[in-house]
Amino acid sequence: MLIVQKYGGTSVGTIERIKSVAERIKRNVDEGHSVVVVVSAMSGQTDGFIALAAEVTDTPDDREMDLMLSSGERVSAALTAMAIQSLGVKARSFTGRQVGIVTNMAHTRARIESVSADDLKTFLDEGYVAVVAGFQGVNEDMEVTTLGRGGSDLTAVAVAHAVGADVCEIYTDVDGVYTTDPNMVASARKLDKICYDEMLELASLGAKVLYSRSVEVAKNYNVPLVVRSSFNDNPGTLVVKEDDEMEKVAVSGVAYDRNQSKVTIHGVPDKPGLAAMLFQQVAEDNINVDMIVQNVSPDGKATDISFTVPNLESARALKVSEGFASEHGARDATLVEDIAKVSIVGVGMKSHSGVAAAMFKALAENKINIIMISTSEIKVSCVIDVKYTELAVRVLHDAFELEKEPSA
Ligand code: ASP
Ligand code: MG
Repeated sequence: MLIVQKYGGTSVGTIERIKSVAERIKRNVDEGHSVVVVVSAMSGQTDGFIALAAEVTDTPDDREMDLMLSSGERVSAALTAMAIQSLGVKARSFTGRQVGIVTNMAHTRARIESVSADDLKTFLDEGYVAVVAGFQGVNEDMEVTTLGRGGSDLTAVAVAHAVGADVCEIYTDVDGVYTTDPNMVASARKLDKICYDEMLELASLGAKVLYSRSVEVAKNYNVPLVVRSSFNDNPGTLVVKEDDEMEKVAVSGVAYDRNQSKVTIHGVPDKPGLAAMLFQQVAEDNINVDMIVQNVSPDGKATDISFTVPNLESARALKVSEGFASEHGARDATLVEDIAKVSIVGVGMKSHSGVAAAMFKALAENKINIIMISTSEIKVSCVIDVKYTELAVRVLHDAFELEKEPSA
């Protein structure tokens, strides 16, 4: 098999860890596999670089940031290659440019446009283990770019596609993807298999095992992913295209996000075009809106519009909303910060009925008030008071019996 293995910052966080990663790679080579390794910077390095830049200036130049940030992954790639070599296995490290990872021009958040991987393939054919520095590429001016925080996952998936790998293994410090946060619910169960869409929902909902964009790319190119631990030999969670078996289970996981705030504009005149104008202004301010709820009051003259945004953007969202309210004759705008979003996710929802009702019932039985609701084909989310987050996650995990292995 041709395997791409990505090791995150904790997996290469110390020299000891790098040596143990090298041993795992040697085992795979001894079993007859070809291996491409993609590494993150040693844990804490990227943050350390950002802190250094902040000591120099409040407004670091993006080009210079990228040159600096990309070096963390180069260090871990070279060290990993050395560690593999010292076990008697041929290995060679590559920068993003040497792998032919070409990105657009957007420094610090570049998108990969193409991966040629020609050199890398030549060395693989000659029996080398290729170790690729994650998180980086070059733009058409040959300037070093980085892919945004967590971007090494994306490097791994893009390289896996470019070399036609059989599987892309993402090594991390957890055993795989769980039915919910195991730190919150002791009976959380590791999932053997989930589909890309479920993984995307869980990732965007705050289950930060995999970087969302890497799952999107894996889905587009149909690259099978395995999320597994570099600290043991457990099989991990396979992330693949959905199949009939997955559809039998209505709910696969419960996610939560405490990082949300709610802005409400009260008494907005009920006229066409106002919502368009409001959300246009919000978008222009680069605020990421998640849920939106609008209520028409009984006299039909005014509506309340509420929407949720990440906590970090809430002050800006309130400001835009206050401006909008005074400009368009709405009463006022308010901000509620102590909310959380809990969500149930499952592709099986498409073919099961009553899933949302079961969720609301479980919350109601525990006296948890629902502030907002939103649904998609494979997800139901409720906004609740943040103080009930843990309780809500636990009762939903129980209600859908997620601790039990689904019967075949
Ligand atoms: N080192 C980069 C970061 O910390 C990229 C990565 O780890 O994937 O965000
Ligand atoms: Mg990471």
